[in-house]
Amino acid sequence: MRRLTRFTLFTFFFFIAFLITVHTAYADKILISQADIKEGLDFCSEFPVSLQVDGETVVSDVPPVIIKDRTLIPARAVFESMGADVEWNEDARLVEVNLGTSNVQLTIDSKIAFVNGSQTSMDVPAMILNDRTLIPVRFVGESLNCAVDWDNLNRTVILSSPVINEYTGISDITFTEDTDKYRVVVEGKDVIEGIKSFAYSKPERFVIDIKNALLNIEEDRIDTNNDLISSIRFSQFEPGVVRVVIDLEDKIAGKISFSPEKDSIYIDFSKSQEDDDKKLGETTQDGLAVVDWGAAEKLVVIDPGHGGKDTGSRAIRNGEVILNEKDINLDIAHRLNRLLQEAGVSTYMLREADTHISLYERPALANAANAYLYISVHNNSADNPKAKGVETFYYSKENESNYGIYSKDLAKMIQKEMVNTLGLFDRGAKSEPAYAVLNKTQMPAIIIEGAFLSNADDLKLMMTDEFREQYARSAAKSIIKILDMGAGD
Ligand SMILES: [Zn+2]
Repeated sequence: MRRLTRFTLFTFFFFIAFLITVHTAYADKILISQADIKEGLDFCSEFPVSLQVDGETVVSDVPPVIIKDRTLIPARAVFESMGADVEWNEDARLVEVNLGTSNVQLTIDSKIAFVNGSQTSMDVPAMILNDRTLIPVRFVGESLNCAVDWDNLNRTVILSSPVINEYTGISDITFTEDTDKYRVVVEGKDVIEGIKSFAYSKPERFVIDIKNALLNIEEDRIDTNNDLISSIRFSQFEPGVVRVVIDLEDKIAGKISFSPEKDSIYIDFSKSQEDDDKKLGETTQDGLAVVDWGAAEKLVVIDPGHGGKDTGSRAIRNGEVILNEKDINLDIAHRLNRLLQEAGVSTYMLREADTHISLYERPALANAANAYLYISVHNNSADNPKAKGVETFYYSKENESNYGIYSKDLAKMIQKEMVNTLGLFDRGAKSEPAYAVLNKTQMPAIIIEGAFLSNADDLKLMMTDEFREQYARSAAKSIIKILDMGAGD
């Protein structure tokens, strides 16, 4: 971390924007000194930071301040303007913010926070400056499901209230037959927010629940009467949930995909029985086990870390970029996607090319897709060139038993596979509640940090095909195993 001078102003702006809007996987462990606070206050009095809540500028008697790259804002002025309830307990030095069903508790000068009753940690604590309580805006805002953005040009923090979803109308459900497959198409009038699917036996049926949806169709079934699908039934199963039931003649899992606009769902059933016999319960061409029938429809989100303007870590030698983390992450993610699909797992890549997705969007996309499991693919870097090896992060959420998948078990399995197959130094599977992709996702989630771009030996390995394939393979093997364990049926 550098000392600030006028000459490094541009770098400073860039660095703030980078840390605030982009840097996803690292919870920077920062120590705050009185000098840091003074530096932040002095700089922000010269270059003030403004605040916008739902499009309106909020003026408070104490302006926001950036300390050690984290923006702190006056709690009351901001969160009360969006309808939150802000309470201050003098004796306990406790700030409590309630918005909708979300609750955040912060103690002055403590990095431990409670979000909806669960303990988590922050980089920068709430503090009292000029007799006002200032709280870290990104941490609190995101914990309350608000979107938090930073407009670097105007030095403005932009805060948006949580979005309350309206129901998407389901306008048509159709059935088509192709030479090699049957296809059920569910058409929405707008983006389909999310789905959940199940496979049941005796009688065999494949069920898709579409959330935040309203059925706008007169009919309630299609009789197909072919050798694979006997009928398709649909109903407004619950307020806001449309259920589509596909009655099957055999245990064939539907492959679910979305239209590019995400306003239609396709459910495909392969016609080729031999093909399916080969695929179900056996091994793929890459020698991986095929998932169980009950696990095939469980959507696995693959998150290739960083992308676009966010390069992630970089390996630079003699002034030249040898490797961008975003590129190797994407390569590994594509391999993982291929291996999982071959094994019959439903997957969803958060990005397929070199595009930028914000920290906030990643978990939101996975939640919207109603994913069953979230795998974030990263590689590592450190100031110390000796730091090397693989580490895997998890965050044991209370609801993991609903999924039958425990992120800690999965992290340990992948960690072990990576160490064994690639001979990487074992940094262990670690609990990390502070990472947004772990704590903002509803489903079990892990982050894999494969190896260090900043370590010469690791980097040499990372440049090989073998490393990328084995990374993907170690992850795929463990994911298939854990999906099967949670499949039941
Ligand atoms: Zn990364």
